Amino acid sequence: MAKIAVLERKCVGCGICVRSCPFGAMEMKDGRPEMNAACKVCGICVKSCPEKAILRLETRVDTVDKTKWNDILVFAEVSGGQLHPVSLELIGKARELAENVHFKVKTVLVGHGVSAFAEELLHYGVSEVAVYDDPALGYFRADAWASCVEDYILYAHPSVVLVGATSLGRSLAPRLSTRFHTGLTADCTRLELRPNTDLVQIRPAFGGNIMAQIITTNTRPQFATVRYKVMDAPARMPAPAGEILRRAIPKGVSASRASCVSVTPVPPKASISDAEILVVGGRGLRKESDLDMIRELAALLGGDWATTRPLVEKGWSTNDRQIGLSGRTVRPRLIITCGVSGAIQFTACMNGSDHIIAINTDPAAPIFEVAHIGITGDLYEIIPEMIRRVKEERGA
Ligand SMILES: Cc1cc2nc3c(=O)[nH]c(=O)nc-3n(C[C@H](O)[C@H](O)[C@H](O)COP(=O)(O)OP(=O)(O)OC[C@H]3O[C@@H](n4cnc5c(N)ncnc54)[C@H](O)[C@@H]3O)c2cc1C
Repeated sequence: MAKIAVLERKCVGCGICVRSCPFGAMEMKDGRPEMNAACKVCGICVKSCPEKAILRLETRVDTVDKTKWNDILVFAEVSGGQLHPVSLELIGKARELAENVHFKVKTVLVGHGVSAFAEELLHYGVSEVAVYDDPALGYFRADAWASCVEDYILYAHPSVVLVGATSLGRSLAPRLSTRFHTGLTADCTRLELRPNTDLVQIRPAFGGNIMAQIITTNTRPQFATVRYKVMDAPARMPAPAGEILRRAIPKGVSASRASCVSVTPVPPKASISDAEILVVGGRGLRKESDLDMIRELAALLGGDWATTRPLVEKGWSTNDRQIGLSGRTVRPRLIITCGVSGAIQFTACMNGSDHIIAINTDPAAPIFEVAHIGITGDLYEIIPEMIRRVKEERGA
């Protein structure tokens, strides 16, 4: 960290520094230069000052002792009486990362009646499951749940904490990282662990045009959220291994200022993230009713349908059917894209699919770079033909 300082006793108020600053970050006030928020600490003013009255000061950054923070903690989310599958995906990734640095993988469970899930988690290769089980934790209250996870972090000192990028996880993780004055990277698509235990948190940035590598160098723990369907869940081991640690409820739970007045369960709705087969319509479709053939093919194959963002923007589809950075991440066994160009904001959230078939008239369309089978042609000829063939196969 660095900052610019003006030595008042040397400054003669000539204003050369103000004129030299390329960011307009210096202003004269009462005959003396002052920095505003636009200062980038570039040091041009330091060089331009003929009186040597401006200094660039380096400030010391306290660095945590990384050897005191070990292991990877996964927040195992139970909501609506179900263990969210993203928790197992995170355990799978954590185990992979932990191997190189000889870390253990631990999990923390919060809620009421969640003890049965602790037994289940021991089948996935974690060394410890910490459980905070209490009627006061029956419904998600961000501050109370954060107090439980904070309590375990203070006890276990994990180097890395992974949280699912669900609505609950997105509310919990920032509260925790703030309590520890440390970094959090949301919606990571890849994670790597360096030998010095720095977590490389990789995610699309600047509208998906670059993949940013974000590192928390000076503080611990390192918090990251990851969306559902981005990582692989490990296979369930027949025999459980590891320990269950029942923790006392911390004071923060009773001190919570939030109370649950009533709960209205939202009926479960099929999500494109859970579909095994998806047929996707893109801007290659000329009119809204042409989505009917996308839906028909999807239904014939026993799958679901989805779209790209432009179709949501036109009002032909809804956000819960949009694949992409600002929509859902999908990983079906089969995905057929029809009239989709393959922008990074779309492909980053479907390129983990087992089989990708792309139909596009443009042989140079980027979608063909991620497709396993590319069909260069007109979707208005190919899709009706596919529908006809599937019906014929089934004798309809
Ligand atoms: C911050 C940000 C977030 C974004 N998030 C998302 C997101 O979540 N999801 C998303 O989808 N996009 C997102 N986008 C937009 C993204 O950049 C693309 O604009 C979008 O994915 C393009 O959609 P498309 O492929 O349907 O349309 P286009 O790029 O217009 O492609 C249409 C394709 O159809 C082909 N075609 C035309 N006629 C036919 C035909 N008869 N038969 C076969 N092929 C045909 C064309 O050759 C073309 O390749 C985001 C952009 C930004 C900046």
